[in-house]
Amino acid sequence: MPEPAIQLACHHCGQLHRKPKLRRRERASCVRCGTVLLQRGKLNVSAWLALSIAALWVFLIANIMPFATLSSTGMSRSATFLEAVRVTWEQGFPLVALMCLMVGFAIPLLQLLMTSWILFFLGIKKYPYGLRTFARWIWFLKPWSMIPVFMLGVLVAVVKLADMASLEPEPGLWAFVALTFLLTFLNKLSSRKIWSLAQETGVVNDLPVDSQQAPFVLACEVCSQVTMHHEAEGKCSRCNTHVHYRKPKHKSRTLALLAAAVVFYIPANLYPIMVIETLLGSSNHTILGGVLQLWELGSWDLALIVFIASVVVPITKIIIMLVLYINDKSGQHIHMDPQSGQGPNQAG
Ligand SMILES: [Zn+2]
Ligand SMILES: [Zn+2]
Repeated sequence: MPEPAIQLACHHCGQLHRKPKLRRRERASCVRCGTVLLQRGKLNVSAWLALSIAALWVFLIANIMPFATLSSTGMSRSATFLEAVRVTWEQGFPLVALMCLMVGFAIPLLQLLMTSWILFFLGIKKYPYGLRTFARWIWFLKPWSMIPVFMLGVLVAVVKLADMASLEPEPGLWAFVALTFLLTFLNKLSSRKIWSLAQETGVVNDLPVDSQQAPFVLACEVCSQVTMHHEAEGKCSRCNTHVHYRKPKHKSRTLALLAAAVVFYIPANLYPIMVIETLLGSSNHTILGGVLQLWELGSWDLALIVFIASVVVPITKIIIMLVLYINDKSGQHIHMDPQSGQGPNQAG
């Protein structure tokens, strides 16, 4: 009977490893797929805390200062991000306004507040109140914080409006630029990284597991703790997040989502994205038409970014997902064969 040990599962392929002890600037990779499992980077808790507090201040500046002044035919108007959201709502686009408010304001703010809260307590070597809940929320909200996407939208609008109206950048816009870089960097601070910083600080521990104790070895996506279960799903023994071997009906789910993505991608490219009307003329463009227009206006760099972000990336993702789906032999059912190391003996 093997002794309980600290186990670590690869978050990409599920391969189990005995957790190594790393020194600063060392990293450990998965023996099967090469994914970096653990890394003791250059930044410690105080450095991360300084970055997140800086991001909070820049966020404040970005939202109280006006970000642009639009002048056309003798009239000019400047607005902050939140005023722009309000105007969008009043113009009859409540859904767009709500979406902008969530992904450009509420979610990034919530993420920054929760991250700073946790890091502050780790900085004074105390267990952060609400660590389990906040880390789970940080993990859940991560894909929905889209300040860089907002920045790209602003840049496109500036170039497209250039010949109809003049758009003067204001301090708020520069704060948004700085925030884009800060948030992109802070995005490296995943919930797994937060738990691993908490461990380095000594306020939480890994729980040892005996991998022969139950047929299912389930790894937590939020804190990376490995938990033994008699069933294909359960709760993480450390942070109480729902863990599962496979998402129920994962093949049908993947196919449904993939089909929906393809179905929506077609009209997204065939129909115009928006129509801009002013006294001096109107313009409407599809995504590709917009890319061509940006190119003709001389902004080839912006045209390239928009082309990569809205054509190359989605199509590549769809193709890769299709190839993985076709090659996936795992099926809907889990075959229990702990001896060969196939099936449940690898973490889900
Ligand atoms: Zn792996
Ligand atoms: Zn967990």
